[in-house]
Amino acid sequence: MPNQSETNRYKIRRDKLRGIINSEEVDGLLVSTEKNVSYLTGFTGDSTWLLLTADSELLISDFRYVTQLEEECPGVDLYIRTSKTTLTEALVEKVAERGLKRLGIEGHSMTTEVFNVLDKALESVELASVCWKVEELRAVKDDHEIQEIREAVRLAEKGFAYLQAILTPQVTEQQLAYELEHAVRNFGGDELSFHPIIAVGDRSAMPHYRPGKLKIADSPILLVDWGAQTHSGYKSDLTRTMLTAAFPDPKFETVYRTVLEAQRLAIEAISPGVSCQKVDTVAREYIQNAGFGEYFDHGLGHGIGLDIHELPRFSQSSNAPLEAGMVVTVEPGIYLAGWGGVRIEDDVLVTECGCEVLSSVPKDWDSVRVSV
Ligand code: ZN
Ligand code: ZN
Repeated sequence: MPNQSETNRYKIRRDKLRGIINSEEVDGLLVSTEKNVSYLTGFTGDSTWLLLTADSELLISDFRYVTQLEEECPGVDLYIRTSKTTLTEALVEKVAERGLKRLGIEGHSMTTEVFNVLDKALESVELASVCWKVEELRAVKDDHEIQEIREAVRLAEKGFAYLQAILTPQVTEQQLAYELEHAVRNFGGDELSFHPIIAVGDRSAMPHYRPGKLKIADSPILLVDWGAQTHSGYKSDLTRTMLTAAFPDPKFETVYRTVLEAQRLAIEAISPGVSCQKVDTVAREYIQNAGFGEYFDHGLGHGIGLDIHELPRFSQSSNAPLEAGMVVTVEPGIYLAGWGGVRIEDDVLVTECGCEVLSSVPKDWDSVRVSV
């Protein structure tokens, strides 16, 4: 059961959202994105929608979640539909009861199928797309969320220390992925925050590679991109690239030092009011000037929280200013197809006067070589 301050936390979020939907000139908002419902109510299940108006809030769910909803969301009205009624039918009934004239919907995530059913059934109600409003709220974390992300980072780091301790020449990428997840769960994490990327040799040049059968002994390069998730669903996201054997190729050191310095400069640039594009540019220009510009063609980083990719985004197309309370990854990389890639990723909290790097796995050049 949540205590009073936990219950208030969700109420504060819903009240903030009310302020936003007021300015959108809708008299209610249907929150149908699963993580947005969680963020606004504390509910950790699925198949449940939140109908929010100026003076009411209703969770529409089904039989499977009655006890869970009562425990996780005290103070929020519940409507439990029977199996004879679909979620959309139940919503239509409740919208009609409230006499809503203009209903906001999360147009960026609602399927066309659901939209068409609602549009047809709610003939006298205008449906207005109100996009990304909850996600924008979620971008700035409150103290509880920051504490959760700190814990997610701590769990990830403990998992990584375990992974380093069990590295042997014959262990495969898949086995390491399994052992990493096992360790994170053993240390108290809920699960990994995404399918980890564990890449040996030239596979490290594939930014979203899935672990396969390669063994550590197959190449000295090992890239690990992983994260842990707390029981409340908050995530961390880190990457380290290592050498697991002597590797006389001076190119690796050049690439590694370039990525490391690009990351250092970008982190140094993070401060409230600075645009996401500016931070992205700092790292991108450094990599370009080093001659590797064309080999770094993804955004510099992203917000983390209940989802692994949240707002804000570090990219050339995002002018959004950073705000204190945002938690972002900074992950420049250089990927040379057929040779290998280097990415270094840390989780960073934007503070009132700059930033704090939440993760602390060593990454200086001297710590790159790990013994196997
Ligand atoms: Zn990552
Ligand atoms: Zn990431």
